[in-house]
Amino acid sequence: MSRVLIIGAGGVANVVVAKCCLNPEVFQEIMIASRTKSKCDALKEKFDGGKTVITTSQLDADNTDEIVKLINEYEPEMVINVALPYQDLTIMDACLETGVHYLDTANYEPPNIPKFEYKWQWAYKEKFEKAGLTAVLGCGFDPGVTGVFSAYALKHYFDEIHYIDILDANGGDHGYPFATNFNPEINIREISANGRYWEKGDWVETDPLEIKRVYDFDQIGEKDAYLLYHEELESLAVHMPGIKRIRFFMTFSEKYITHLNVLKNVGMTSIEPIEIEGVKIQPLQFLKAVLPDPATLGPRTKGKTNIGCIYQGIKDGKPVSYYVYNVCDHQSCYKEVGSQAISYTTGVPAMIGAKLLLEGKWKKPGVYNVEEFDPDPFMEQLNKQGLPWNESFEPELVD
Ligand code: NDP
Repeated sequence: MSRVLIIGAGGVANVVVAKCCLNPEVFQEIMIASRTKSKCDALKEKFDGGKTVITTSQLDADNTDEIVKLINEYEPEMVINVALPYQDLTIMDACLETGVHYLDTANYEPPNIPKFEYKWQWAYKEKFEKAGLTAVLGCGFDPGVTGVFSAYALKHYFDEIHYIDILDANGGDHGYPFATNFNPEINIREISANGRYWEKGDWVETDPLEIKRVYDFDQIGEKDAYLLYHEELESLAVHMPGIKRIRFFMTFSEKYITHLNVLKNVGMTSIEPIEIEGVKIQPLQFLKAVLPDPATLGPRTKGKTNIGCIYQGIKDGKPVSYYVYNVCDHQSCYKEVGSQAISYTTGVPAMIGAKLLLEGKWKKPGVYNVEEFDPDPFMEQLNKQGLPWNESFEPELVD
């Protein structure tokens, strides 16, 4: 039975709070702290009334001293960071200073440099080891479950995994001409960056959305899937012995790509500030302000997501292919917790990671990516907490 501080009060936090409240034997008390306190209060009002005691607080998580003060007052056992990637390091610093465990769903990214890299957070490994604290990095779906799937595949079905293709398909339709399913700024930064995949010990760079495949997804059908760089490629390249290639594909509709290209061509996705009548504005932040808030997409989004990984490698000298994936229905998520599937598939794994950490199953001093823990209890929890997985030993391959 534990007390947990949840930082952030957006779409993913909504699901984390909902799921913590459904597991009150572990999450006895939670505090929701975020920049805009009214959003924390709205979450409390929505999910209050069960066994989990919910409190709220205003917090600027860019400020380590403020986080330290709040942690010292509330005395949680761990922090679940579902604010933005920009806050990862200030929150990790505060955890070290106050002696609490840490978990997040996205790797640190400096606000002015669009570079997703683990190097900043991996640099904290020794400090967390010395403090006897656990930091779990990237515990959403991708990254997150994709790393757990990889550890599970390696543990049970392979001696060596040679190829991994991560496939993230969203067959959902929210009815808007253009909207992003999670924080637009983070989402567009991720997609408009150059593509990259890992092959034979090196990174192969592509133009943004240069490589496209068509894949027939279970319960969704055929979709255009584009090769993107995604942060779990970096950690899996380090943690999967014998790996030769890892790629990540995400589906986008033609309508989405057309809008994105137009916005990009006119400079609306740029993070370089421009001056308008004496006021400096970052075009991407302005775009974020005019796009639909992802948190409002829940009631409108119909259809399913299908996210999983295809592995090829060897077992007992023989070639093996294995596909493990989850299919999640946007409307079922909305009925259960009031969010669409993108927030749901991120928030449920964050809660599971926190639960395993608090139960001691995923507790070891240091900074770890999810594939470095035992995948079995996590896979069991996915089936119990709303993200059941399917597997196939004769999957259609991407190429
Ligand atoms: P939202 O934009 O909906 O929510 C972010 C929340 O963080 C908001 O409540 C925001 O406050 C708060 N916040 C931002 N800056 C600060 C700050 N300085 N101090 C305190 N709070 C702050 O994002 P999502 O819920 O969609 O995403 C949350 C995280 O999940 C992101 O890091 C995202 O990258 C990650 N993610 C991971 C996925 C995965 O599969 N691994 C998939 C999808 C998302 P305010 O309301 O004031 O803006």
